Amino acid sequence: MRSYTLIAPAKINLHLEIIGDRPDGYHELVMILQSIDLADEIHLEASDNQAISVRCPHPEVPIDNSNIAYKAAELMAAEFPNAFARYGGVNITINKRIPVAAGLAGGSTNAAAVLVGIDLLWKLGLTQSELEELGAQLGSDVPFCVAGGTAIATGRGEQLSALPSLDNIYIVLGKYRSLAVSTPWAYKTYRQQFGDSYLKDTDSLSARAAAIHSGPIVKAILNKDATQIAQKLHNDLERVVLPAHPQVLQLRETFASAGVLGTMMSGSGPSVFAICDSQQQAEKVKLQVRETLADDDLELFVARMTSHGVQVASSM
Ligand code: ATP
Repeated sequence: MRSYTLIAPAKINLHLEIIGDRPDGYHELVMILQSIDLADEIHLEASDNQAISVRCPHPEVPIDNSNIAYKAAELMAAEFPNAFARYGGVNITINKRIPVAAGLAGGSTNAAAVLVGIDLLWKLGLTQSELEELGAQLGSDVPFCVAGGTAIATGRGEQLSALPSLDNIYIVLGKYRSLAVSTPWAYKTYRQQFGDSYLKDTDSLSARAAAIHSGPIVKAILNKDATQIAQKLHNDLERVVLPAHPQVLQLRETFASAGVLGTMMSGSGPSVFAICDSQQQAEKVKLQVRETLADDDLELFVARMTSHGVQVASSM
């Protein structure tokens, strides 16, 4: 049976700004998304029946049709019924390394890998933008995860504008294993607390979304200046997640006092990352934070910003 193994990288948010409500119930966002080399491995194997199956030994990841990787395969079967009939079903195995429910787009990147992999298994020849359009039907972060790198994301997060890639900046990433933050909870709480400040008219929303292109963080990215990028990190969701989870605030403060260039929660959290000026510093900060917090529940990773999203590792 033909098979593909794909690498599905996580993302962090260098910028996350909530600017308004949308008629579809989502928020209007302005984000800068960045792929990192902490990645899941997704193995796709053609099966000789018309079924989709998911295997994943991670206890918090469902293996039924609620898994977003399953949904991605189901979407492909619905969109391309002739290919599904011709090539059969697909067995998906997920080797999870990205912390779950952490604000790192772990599920979204798995879905993106399934779209890319099935495109290859079924010889569909889809373009990047066709894959991104399919991804938008599955979740707001899925389109970014297809090509990854560094990008401005607006709308729900699905409208992408690529930036020159940052591929040699190291971060340390921390996440308490037993702590999960629901993305819908974080956005709903933000709306309850800060909805009054949302921009209301379309012109103001467009102007705010456009402003990011000439803003200081984009200038820092264009200059590939890690120090400047680290000083301009921004995440509106910290306003609701940090007060609700003092452990996350403490982790952020511990990174800050370890002398990193800058630190911020990623997405809806609870993962926190810190930008470092070298791989050596990142390794040192990881040890220092491990000693200061001395908590077995805390997972710490050194990772590197990367210029790509889903990649094929091997095929048979
Ligand atoms: P995002 O940053 O896109 O909001 P996240 O990193 O915060 O995502 P995920 O790791 O995608 O969160 O997990 C969110 C929930 O989705 C989990 O509670 C998990 O049970 C469920 N889930 C479904 N499919 C997957 C998958 N393939 N990988 C991880 N979680 C999955």
